[in-house]
Amino acid sequence: MDVNVGVSGIPLSAKGSDTGAGLRVLKELGLDFMEIQFSRNIYLNPDSARTVGNIAKELGIGLTCHASYYINLASQKIEVQEASIKRIVDTLRIAEVLGAKLIVVHAGYYSGRSHEEAYDIIKSNIDAIGVKCPSKVKIGIETMGKQKSFGSVDEIIRLCNDCPNTVPVIDFGHVHVREFGSIKTVCDFTSIFERFKDEVGLDEFHVHMSCMKHANGNEISHLPLESFDPDFRLMAKSIRNNGYKCSVVCESPLMEHDALLFKSWLKS
Ligand SMILES: [Zn+2]
Repeated sequence: MDVNVGVSGIPLSAKGSDTGAGLRVLKELGLDFMEIQFSRNIYLNPDSARTVGNIAKELGIGLTCHASYYINLASQKIEVQEASIKRIVDTLRIAEVLGAKLIVVHAGYYSGRSHEEAYDIIKSNIDAIGVKCPSKVKIGIETMGKQKSFGSVDEIIRLCNDCPNTVPVIDFGHVHVREFGSIKTVCDFTSIFERFKDEVGLDEFHVHMSCMKHANGNEISHLPLESFDPDFRLMAKSIRNNGYKCSVVCESPLMEHDALLFKSWLKS
């Protein structure tokens, strides 16, 4: 089975240490992967990023990056759009130094626009990033868990077909809450994987995993996997049954504990 399982950020058991030490802890635990969190700021400079990239390579730990939370490519304010483009470009550049294969981006909010208008603006800003910063690192556009956020499954599929510098990031918890608790069976997971496979031509998936506290189609907070909402044992079964190649980033508050739990579900 070709599944990499990892965590979002420095593991809890390495808290207070640097990214390199976090990578060594992941290796010792038997995890495969780190999504480096630049969600508040890009805390590595090119030199430290090169060092972290080399440690990851030496340990055989895969890397991706999560871009800033302060991105809104569809803002009504042009200066916010421009700052968002800059944040994505800066993240792409540091990701290249790290040797990361993609950066994860929350594209933005509808911001009082129609969904169609928000789509057009986000698409043209992503195209502008492709011109400004041609990169082999892909921009991973995440499915989002709030009604006001751009990022339904349909929108992500459409955008990733329209913009060659993007790939989908499937956050199943977000899809679940956005669709008012829609994921209840193995088939529900499989049909989402299959849509991305058939409609985007994906043969490798980047997946975010966390249970969710939610209400009225909106995410409130992340919960451990053993709250089973949605039930990721079913995702493990879907991956196993269909042999999907994927990288699964555990975003549960229990981080590496839940990443290892998920690994055990993949085997059982
Ligand atoms: Zn995210």
